[in-house]
Amino acid sequence: METWLPHSFNRPKLLIVDDQPTNIRVLHELFREDCDVFMATSGEQAISVCQTQLPDLILLDVVMEDMDGHEVCRRLKSDPATQGIPIIFITAQQQESDEVLGLELGAVDFISKPINTTIVRARVRTHLTLKLQSDLLRSMALIDGLTGVANRRKFNEDISADWRLCFREQKPLSLILVDVDFFKRYNDRYGHQAGDGCLKSVAQALAETVRRPYDLIARYGGEEFACVLPNTPLTGAVDIAEKMQKRVRALGIEHAASDVDRVVTISLGVATLTPTGELGFESLIDAADKQLYAAKNAGRARVCSSAVPSS
Ligand code: GH3
Ligand code: MG
Ligand code: MG
Repeated sequence: METWLPHSFNRPKLLIVDDQPTNIRVLHELFREDCDVFMATSGEQAISVCQTQLPDLILLDVVMEDMDGHEVCRRLKSDPATQGIPIIFITAQQQESDEVLGLELGAVDFISKPINTTIVRARVRTHLTLKLQSDLLRSMALIDGLTGVANRRKFNEDISADWRLCFREQKPLSLILVDVDFFKRYNDRYGHQAGDGCLKSVAQALAETVRRPYDLIARYGGEEFACVLPNTPLTGAVDIAEKMQKRVRALGIEHAASDVDRVVTISLGVATLTPTGELGFESLIDAADKQLYAAKNAGRARVCSSAVPSS
């Protein structure tokens, strides 16, 4: 079988759902070379595979005992975690009303039984390509083009989600705001291209400081970065901020025009808040910004922090 998806994509995950194992076998044979194929013989099983594997496409039998395909589709579309998975219904029914219902439930396509292998392969290929392209676009839309870390949009998405999560669990949420010292002078002295290179190195150094999967480093604006640390108390966040400060200094990027050192340094403001019902995440940004301002005023190249009273 020729390779029929762009090489740049990872192996796609395909879930086949049918209560007749013989039907699954035929489809499995068709796709096993090009996809990671998952199989489910009931609606319940299909939903649980979706939650753990997040497939890129589902081939879903409509008529099944217990829970039918329409109900499986309804449940997947009502869960934010699974609603983006495209679904193709496989059905022996030829009535237009069934297709209408399926489309209304959010299916992307239909394939009729008995299966024509050319048709099923073409449709699967089309929808997998669309899915992988939209995943790629989405991830590109959240990355800063210069530094490769998350951009401001991703920062906004994450901090508001983390705020809600930490509110539910009553856990502390920490934010570090980072600003490169005397960066205007750096550009004036070494040129804008060198400035860009410096920002890349600083971003890399910051990213290497955080380890936990839910920690985020984002480019907040020009020469400012932000680090969001869910479920992290102030002491932990200050510790990370101090490490960032040391790591950036250790890059040893010459900055002869700086008043604080001979190399590029950063100032950092740290704030921690356990979310309450009255406050929004903007209050955390304000608090970290005040600390950053304090760090600048106190002479730059340092970390300033304060716990924000939560009431
Ligand atoms: P401070 O120590 O008070 O932070 O001084 P500063 O010069 O770093 O602060 P200021 O806000 O005056 O200047 C920030 C500079 O960052 C100005 C701008 O030209 C530069 N800058 C912003 N974005 C980029 C970028 O993408 N590339 C480059 N090379 N420079 C940038
Ligand atoms: Mg600035
Ligand atoms: Mg600056």
